[in-house]
Amino acid sequence: MNFSLNQEQQMIVDSLGKYALNELKPVAQAYRDQLIPKEKMLEIQQRLVDFGVGAGVVSETLGGMGLDAVTMGLLQFEVAKVSPDIAITSLIQMTVGKLLPLVPEHLKEHYVTPVLAGTKLGCIGMSEPGAGSQVTAVNCRARLEGDEYVINGEKLWISSGGYSDFIFLLARFNDDPVGGLGLILVDRKHGYQTNDIKKMGLNSQSTAQVSFEDVRVPASNLMVEPGKAMKALLTMLASSRPIVGLMALAIAEAALEASVTYAKDRVQFGKPIAGHQLISAKLGEMATKIQAGKLMAFCALSAIDNNERSDVYSAMSKWFGAEMACEVVAEAMQIHGGNGVTSEFPIEYMYRSVRLFMVTEGTNEIQKLAIGRSLTGIDAF
Ligand SMILES: Cc1cc2nc3c(=O)[nH]c(=O)nc-3n(C[C@H](O)[C@H](O)[C@H](O)COP(=O)(O)OP(=O)(O)OC[C@H]3O[C@@H](n4cnc5c(N)ncnc54)[C@H](O)[C@@H]3O)c2cc1C
Repeated sequence: MNFSLNQEQQMIVDSLGKYALNELKPVAQAYRDQLIPKEKMLEIQQRLVDFGVGAGVVSETLGGMGLDAVTMGLLQFEVAKVSPDIAITSLIQMTVGKLLPLVPEHLKEHYVTPVLAGTKLGCIGMSEPGAGSQVTAVNCRARLEGDEYVINGEKLWISSGGYSDFIFLLARFNDDPVGGLGLILVDRKHGYQTNDIKKMGLNSQSTAQVSFEDVRVPASNLMVEPGKAMKALLTMLASSRPIVGLMALAIAEAALEASVTYAKDRVQFGKPIAGHQLISAKLGEMATKIQAGKLMAFCALSAIDNNERSDVYSAMSKWFGAEMACEVVAEAMQIHGGNGVTSEFPIEYMYRSVRLFMVTEGTNEIQKLAIGRSLTGIDAF
């Protein structure tokens, strides 16, 4: 397997890396722990689209760049390294972009063009108060009345929910546990409500509760008929999970870089702390964990690009990347001593942010169970 970047990938990564450092980092610092307002987030996403971030994944047939999975991973890594919050919003645009082919033909113009231009933000609504790891417990109901669906229920933890102009909604159309689940496009103008959720980190982007109370949507907005939605969403998740692992590792890489600088500057017992074996070994371990996680993620992404089976590699790279990243950032905090726990230094924000990656996009436990099932053929959920 070839892990070196081609010339085009190297160019995109270099120019995006510079842009992220010069333009996004100051925004991330200014909005630390505060929601980036929608107008500002749109402005950022529109600029990122030029680099292929987010909507770059949309196929050329739909007017997009049709970027491959490895390139999307590289791009998300660069953005997440300076701002995991901004990267989450572009990740959601990416997953929305992946699902655009499922948008009914008569609505394509209305959604594809704005997503490609970064002028509309979408979100994906699966989780609910009673349906987290067990997605098939979804209870948000879509009832057909004439030529409209009437939607009632609640979605929880929806990334970009508060920003969203539209939602790709996983809803229950009948009582069959899996056969009853379909995907429908609901526009903000149809009347859903959102409330942002305050979390331990990543509050510069929106994670929202989304409520539907007798929301009427044209029946022709159905994207995936009941019974086929889970397959479409699981395919989408298999392609985004390695990228989620990479985003956590991007935070870890930023923490490692800060730790290397700190360990060279901070003097105790007459020498830089980098000259103490326990600190030097910590840095060595941190770099190795990041490298292992990145290789696993790119292995999964390259399987996707080669149309090979990727779900198991995706699950492996998501849990491993997130777990390694949490360990690395915790060590970075230790290397920073007292300064690590103050808001004067970036580490405590990284520490609070990286933790969320153990839960989002399917918890680490669920990834391990999926891998176990692939080994034994026995479902242990
Ligand atoms: C920041 C953030 C962003 C998110 N963005 C989105 C989004 O955009 N769209 C969306 O639909 N969802 C989103 N989610 C929801 C996320 O996918 C769920 O939080 C996740 O699937 C876990 O569900 P839960 O929180 O209900 O936990 P639960 O399912 O209640 O799990 C609680 C604990 O039990 C464990 N557990 C559950 N079942 C088993 C089992 N069978 N065996 C062993 N352990 C088990 C879990 O691993 C976990 O540790 C987001 C979540 C977060 C935190």
